[in-house]
Amino acid sequence: MTAEMVTKQTTGRSPVAERPPGPSLSPSRAADFKTCPLLYRFRSIDRLPERPSLDQVRGTLVHAVLERLFDLPAPARTPTAAGDLVSPEWDRLVADEPELTGLFADEAAVDVTEFLGSARRLLDGYFTVEDPRRLEPAERETLISTVVDDELLIRGYIDRLDVAPDGALRVVDYKTGGAPREAFEARALFQLKFYALVLWRTRGVVPKVLRLLYLKDAEICDYAPDADELARFERTLVALWRAIEQATTNQDFRPKPSRLCDWCSHQALCPAFGGTPPPFPDVATTVVIPEQPSRAGGPAEDE
Ligand code: SF4
Repeated sequence: MTAEMVTKQTTGRSPVAERPPGPSLSPSRAADFKTCPLLYRFRSIDRLPERPSLDQVRGTLVHAVLERLFDLPAPARTPTAAGDLVSPEWDRLVADEPELTGLFADEAAVDVTEFLGSARRLLDGYFTVEDPRRLEPAERETLISTVVDDELLIRGYIDRLDVAPDGALRVVDYKTGGAPREAFEARALFQLKFYALVLWRTRGVVPKVLRLLYLKDAEICDYAPDADELARFERTLVALWRAIEQATTNQDFRPKPSRLCDWCSHQALCPAFGGTPPPFPDVATTVVIPEQPSRAGGPAEDE
C-alpha cells in the first residue's frame, strides 16, 4: 500500500529533518523481528512485495474515513455521516492505487458493494464504543519520532492522540482486522508502547492511556503504562536493534513459526514450510524502511 494520507510531524527533541541519515526503526518492523526474524528480512531487506488482503484494504479505508470524520464539525460526526464518507474515500484510494480493484476480480466471493458495506459495519462498531461528537483529537495520522541510544531513530504513525484539559495523553489505535485479536494483541500492545515511548521522550509526559479500539468486536482495551516500564521498553528496543544489526551482519535471519504464519505472505520461501529464501541481497548493515500511515503491513497488525 502506498496511498498517502495527510500527515504532519510533531516537534520533538530530535526532528527527522535535522539529523543525518542513520538507523531507523518503525514499530511494525520492530514487531516483525520480534515475531519472526525471517519475516523481518523478507520485508525490510529483501523488500519482497506483499499483496494486501481485503481485510487490510478495508482497514486502510476505515482508518481514512475515521480521519476524515474529525474534519467535520463535532455535531455532524454521526454514523450516517461516517457511512457517507465510505464511497468517496474508497474512490480516493482507488484513484491513488487503481490495482486495488483487482482484489475483487480474484476474490469473486466479495464484490465492491459488499466490501463497502463491510466497512460501514466496522464504522457502526466504532460508534458503539465512542461518540466522536464528544471528542476533539489533538492529532490524527501523525508521524512521531525520536532518537534513542544517541543514534537510533524510532518513528511511527499514531492513528489518534487525545489530549485532556489537564494535559493527559491518550493514544488511540483502531483495529479493524478479521483475524482473531488474541493472535495479535501482544503485537498491538508492543506498537502502542513504542508510540508511548516516543511521546514520553518528546513531550516529557507518559501517556495516561494506550487504547486499542476493536471495531469488529466493538470493544475497547485500555492499558496504562508507567515511566519505569517505558524505560525498560526503550532498553528492549535498543537490544532489538542490536540483534537486527547482528543478524544483518551475519546474514542470519531464522524463521520463528507461530500461529501468525497463517497471515504470512512468504510461506513459499520459508524453510519452516519447505521453502528456500532468495540469496541474501547486498545491503548495508542498516536498513531504513519508511513507515506508512495506517498501512496494513501485516501480518494484519495495522488493520
Ligand atoms: S511463514 Fe512463519 S516462520 Fe516463515 S517467515 Fe513467515 S512468519 Fe516467519
